[in-house]
Amino acid sequence: MIKRFIRRILGKKSQTNKKTRLQRIPVANHGLTREQILPCALKVTDTLQQGGFTAFVVGGAVRDLLLGKMPKDFDVATNATPEQVRDLFRRSRIIGRRFRLVHVMCGADTIEVSTFRACAITEDDTSHVTDDTGRIVRDNVFGDQESDAERRDFTINALYYDPSTQEIWDYRGGVADIKRKTLRIIGDPTTRYREDPVRMLRAARFAAKLDFHIDETTRAPITELAELLSNVPPSRLFDEMLKLLLSGHALRAVHQLRAEGLHHGMLPMLDSILEQDEGQRFITAALHNTDQRLQAGKSVSPAFLFATLLWHELHIHYRTRLDAGESASAAFFAAMDDTLDQQRARLAVPRRLDGMMKEIWSLQSRFDQRSGSRPYRLLGHPRFRAGYDFLLLRAESGEVDKTLADWWTTFQDADEAERAAMLVNEPASAKPKRRRRAKKPNPAAQPIND
Ligand code: ATP
Ligand code: MG
Repeated sequence: MIKRFIRRILGKKSQTNKKTRLQRIPVANHGLTREQILPCALKVTDTLQQGGFTAFVVGGAVRDLLLGKMPKDFDVATNATPEQVRDLFRRSRIIGRRFRLVHVMCGADTIEVSTFRACAITEDDTSHVTDDTGRIVRDNVFGDQESDAERRDFTINALYYDPSTQEIWDYRGGVADIKRKTLRIIGDPTTRYREDPVRMLRAARFAAKLDFHIDETTRAPITELAELLSNVPPSRLFDEMLKLLLSGHALRAVHQLRAEGLHHGMLPMLDSILEQDEGQRFITAALHNTDQRLQAGKSVSPAFLFATLLWHELHIHYRTRLDAGESASAAFFAAMDDTLDQQRARLAVPRRLDGMMKEIWSLQSRFDQRSGSRPYRLLGHPRFRAGYDFLLLRAESGEVDKTLADWWTTFQDADEAERAAMLVNEPASAKPKRRRRAKKPNPAAQPIND
């Protein structure tokens, strides 16, 4: 308490502590005011500080506010232990195993509160557990604020904002890097990527999302170390990949991944897709559409997104099974499982998304059927909208004729008489009782029972 009081008195001017490289930047120099902080985050830092603890808004929120962007979420860092944090807030719970954190809830908002962590890994350090590639597998050792800053990934993510003094505590020149639009890793890049290979993916994500340049020393080892991503648990890769894809700049981020050689192995879908014209057109349309939706404040369903990313894989599995002599229908259903199983081994798309992904895929063949009662039944399908949006992407990438997508666009909005007039008439004799087998090896042309 007393130390904090003295520090407050001393901290009126921007000051640099030579030993720690800490710069305390006053509000007059950075312009980030308390009013810009989410009230729930203010409640958390105020309550912790009143309880005698240190507490700062940290990470992405400070970075984004300095860049004039709306933060996705607000994280708080403190010297209070998870138990001490939980005791101060009625609506809170401790989560996580690799990192123990506290979620504090106010209304609909949740603030993630983390305790300052130790960072130094030395030969005789037994507090951090690493595997034989240098990857940290357990890291629950608490430390001081300076070591907490050291273990963060990039300089621009190691900024601490104290809402009560409106000062930014900058240990690693993050504010200067924000001004320079430069992404710079903290510490030795190779060691930091070995500790946690996901940081390489994060570099691609932040560079794309913020339109920052990756500092040369930070970028240099990435291509060589990309294979380390194969040691990362598939569920963690999924989480990080989802953040990248939902960043609002997915297209740029995926190109960045490709430029750094990070798309190999981790995502079979990107491997094959980005190397083929047809697949690349579809993925480009899908990611562009995702970015536009997010930038317009609309939601994007992860199931829809992964259905698009895996569509090309599905084609490949389907063709293989057709070539092996399977019927179109059996081949299609089995190919959906092949696709999902193969993907799960590297990047764990959660099983709860399987149902919707399969529905979106299966609906595609039904868009070809525009006679009798079938279009009406399809319109009433709970996943019609997602299936239709998917069809639009297929049309945009040239996979199906644009007139088909246009037909469905018009049919949806038409009145009863117009719809009846639009139906494609099939001669009575040609009407198949059972749908015919697809001749072309195209999953969307396979027969689906409706
Ligand atoms: P976003 O806007 O995507 O939420 P963020 O910077 O807040 O960006 P988070 O994943 O929410 O990213 O992480 C919060 C903070 O935790 C980061 O700013 C960074 O300081 C630290 N951090 C997260 N992941 C890592 C990591 N793999 N290695 C080191 N520090 C990390
Ligand atoms: Mg965040």
